[in-house]
Amino acid sequence: MVRVRFAPSPTGPLHIGGVRTALYNYLFARQNGGQMILRIEDTDQGRFVPGAEQYIIEALDWLGIKFDEGVHLGGPYGPYRQSDRKPMYRQYADQLIRDGWAYYAFDKPEALEAKRKEFEAQKKTFQYDCNTRGEMENSLSLGMEEAQRRIDAGEPYVVRFKFPDNIDITVHDMIRGDVTMNSRLLDDKVLFKSDGMPTYHLANIVDDHTMEITHVIRGEEWLPSAPLHVMLYKAFGWEDTMPRFAHLPLLLKPEGNGKLSKRDGDRLGFPVFPLEWHDPKSGEVSSGYREQGYLPQAVVNMLALMGWNPGTEQEIMSMEELIKLFNVEHISKNGAKFNLDKAKWFQHEYFQKLSDEQVADLLEAQLKERGIEADRNYIVKVAGMMKERITFPSELWDTCCYFFEAPTEYNEKDVAKRWTPDMHIHMAKVIEILNTVPFEHDAIHKALLDDYIAANGLNTGKVMNSLRIAVVGRTVGPDMITLVLTIGKEETIRRIEKAIEKLKIEQ
Ligand code: GLU
Repeated sequence: MVRVRFAPSPTGPLHIGGVRTALYNYLFARQNGGQMILRIEDTDQGRFVPGAEQYIIEALDWLGIKFDEGVHLGGPYGPYRQSDRKPMYRQYADQLIRDGWAYYAFDKPEALEAKRKEFEAQKKTFQYDCNTRGEMENSLSLGMEEAQRRIDAGEPYVVRFKFPDNIDITVHDMIRGDVTMNSRLLDDKVLFKSDGMPTYHLANIVDDHTMEITHVIRGEEWLPSAPLHVMLYKAFGWEDTMPRFAHLPLLLKPEGNGKLSKRDGDRLGFPVFPLEWHDPKSGEVSSGYREQGYLPQAVVNMLALMGWNPGTEQEIMSMEELIKLFNVEHISKNGAKFNLDKAKWFQHEYFQKLSDEQVADLLEAQLKERGIEADRNYIVKVAGMMKERITFPSELWDTCCYFFEAPTEYNEKDVAKRWTPDMHIHMAKVIEILNTVPFEHDAIHKALLDDYIAANGLNTGKVMNSLRIAVVGRTVGPDMITLVLTIGKEETIRRIEKAIEKLKIEQ
């Protein structure tokens, strides 16, 4: 049974890189008929941000990334929030000390700082490891008896992992293959603090083990910690059930250098968070995909392809298709550049998949906001006609407004270019045609374009664009005759008459 987890720390809004990690875990779980767990890793209380956990749940729910167990659902392996699991970690720290895999350390922050300075002065970097631990204040250098005396006297301490000297540690990564590191390069990470809280490393391994996680799929930034994690499985005697690891490539800035940051989003005008985030401390608001009008399916499809591809040219894939096609071994080792044009392209594609009724719902809401009432069938018709011109719902009103309101002003540049002094004569002729020929496409087309414009050697672009200025106020929009038929005879004539009046006076 495949069991994967998404294990965010509630330190702020979930970055889209984190969303992609959750997505890949979800695809992998579903593909293998496995389970997906949401675990909240909040051992670092100093970085806890209120609302972040709720944000994570809401964001993933919006995107259709569903869990089988988790902090919001419960389940047989709970609790799923590390702060609620606090009492169970101590025994594991004790076990490591008992078995010689860890030790107590009493070094005060000032002492550590002094050591760092001392090393810096020699152009070296201090690391608490097999080379330096002998010079520090810990149960290895002081002896266990003295350590116990200090603990009993209430002296604060931490528990550090004791890396064996000079051994090669290999992480078998599903994407990168074998990654080997020598223990001399690794520092004796803190696993547990005297306040009873484990650090990320200890809690993460204990939880993955006790929750029977089979695969750890997470960001590349955790690869340097993986040798410690492999050693912890060994130290606990859990090697047989150690999960398999897959470290995902970073999401990069659009220019390709460096990790995509919140500031890049602000700088280049795209969100780096799934939902809008109101920072509870600073009050700062960061934009979200949802609030910008992105469809969740578009965001999912875009993110799925940032670091993975199905091995074909196919780009549009529903969640169901992604579940079928996803393959961890095909995940790229290289970082994936964020591409705003591509994000918009996906959004446009998915917007086109909405039904006319769905687009009409969005449009109707915008009409209501403006106090405009219109017939539902008419709104649906306009929605269907204009959909292909829309990428974001926020463009609906501006793109469709002239179906609901006569223009109150006329684009000056368009007028200057198209509305020649004789135009009122041609527009009067258009009114005459509309009043005399059957109100349907072919008849109007023949009477206006063939029998009038062409027969009199007039400039088609000028006359038709002037008609558009009169009806729409500007020179962009769908097929002019279809537009006239949609708006209706009386309304079209009213608008042309008004334009003749206004533009004559202004000339
Ligand atoms: N809590 C870690 C994070 O915030 C989880 C890393 C992991 O998946 O092991 O990314």
